[in-house]
Amino acid sequence: MTTIDDLPIRDDLRGKTPYGAPQLDVAVRLNTNENSYPVPDDVVEAIGKAVQAELRDLNRYPDRDAIALRTELASYLGHGLTTMNVWAANGSNEVQQQLLQTFAGPGRKALGFGPSYSMHPLLAAGTGTEWIGALRDPDFGLSPEKAVAEIERHDPDLVFLCSPNNPTGTALDPAVIDAVLRTARGMVIVDEAYTEFARPGTPSALALLPGHPRLVVSRTMSKAFGFAGGRLGYLAADPAVVDAVQLVRLPYHLSSITQAAARAAVVHRASLLGTVEAIKEQRDRIVATLRSRGTEVADSDANFVLFRTEPDQRAAWQAFLDRGVLIRDVGLAGWLRVTAGTESETSAFLDAAEEILSAPL
Ligand code: PMP
Repeated sequence: MTTIDDLPIRDDLRGKTPYGAPQLDVAVRLNTNENSYPVPDDVVEAIGKAVQAELRDLNRYPDRDAIALRTELASYLGHGLTTMNVWAANGSNEVQQQLLQTFAGPGRKALGFGPSYSMHPLLAAGTGTEWIGALRDPDFGLSPEKAVAEIERHDPDLVFLCSPNNPTGTALDPAVIDAVLRTARGMVIVDEAYTEFARPGTPSALALLPGHPRLVVSRTMSKAFGFAGGRLGYLAADPAVVDAVQLVRLPYHLSSITQAAARAAVVHRASLLGTVEAIKEQRDRIVATLRSRGTEVADSDANFVLFRTEPDQRAAWQAFLDRGVLIRDVGLAGWLRVTAGTESETSAFLDAAEEILSAPL
């Protein structure tokens, strides 16, 4: 049997593992930070009509520039942003890949502060970019001083900041973003995939865009919008950044169907985003309940919670799965991550946690 090792793949890809959160058929799936609520009926109807209206024209390529969708996304973002400040692709993973292709790549370096989103180094690898894995503090915090010191030491072409950070959940102090922008010579990407779930008083990096042409804010419809299956991510930046990514984007990368469905979803955002408060309530319930039982938990501004599972997180992950609750082992020794689901999913998790975290494994 031929294996990957028998093929003439790039040397720098040999031995690497693909992104692979388990997709298991389990009753309670709280492992990929999706929105647990199905798309509401009024939005299902609107998306259906919008997609239907495209079908006869599928013989034609879609709008290469996705103008109507970008205009709708800019109106959602506010902050005085317009169509020219916004770019969209098939998930924010693709947005970030395009940014690496444009501003990093062979001979250049990207830096991130782990533990953080596991795709940042994988996207760097896929684009031939050297990855510098700087670390957050042991309590998962990141101070402006530490961020500045790492950037001065490595002089990266592109910096990834993640706020709220996956997998720890906590938003960055805006002073960190400010300090990084003042220090870095290259592009600064702030991945705000979970920003709609942030606790009150957490500012978005969108406010920093004026006067910072090397800042890019990456967003997604996969989380708060409950549109993970629709695959739509986007960025906000100076119009010059949007012009620059045109150099690497594939022609017609966003299908007519994706554009129509996503546009209908953004137009109906009031209905889609209606679940955010309920999810935040369950998130806060997980934090409060686990803490009241003496479990260490990281502060969360996201739709998930990172909690302590001494001594071995792998055994605890399996114990949750054995009880029909799929959560995430992000490879962080002694910690597991759970997505805040519906009230009943969250109860199933908390019931399992009560048994698992109090018993010696
Ligand atoms: N950024 C972060 C921090 C994420 O956690 C995720 C999804 N897990 C993404 C980006 C990518 O999401 P998508 O491609 O669905 O937009």
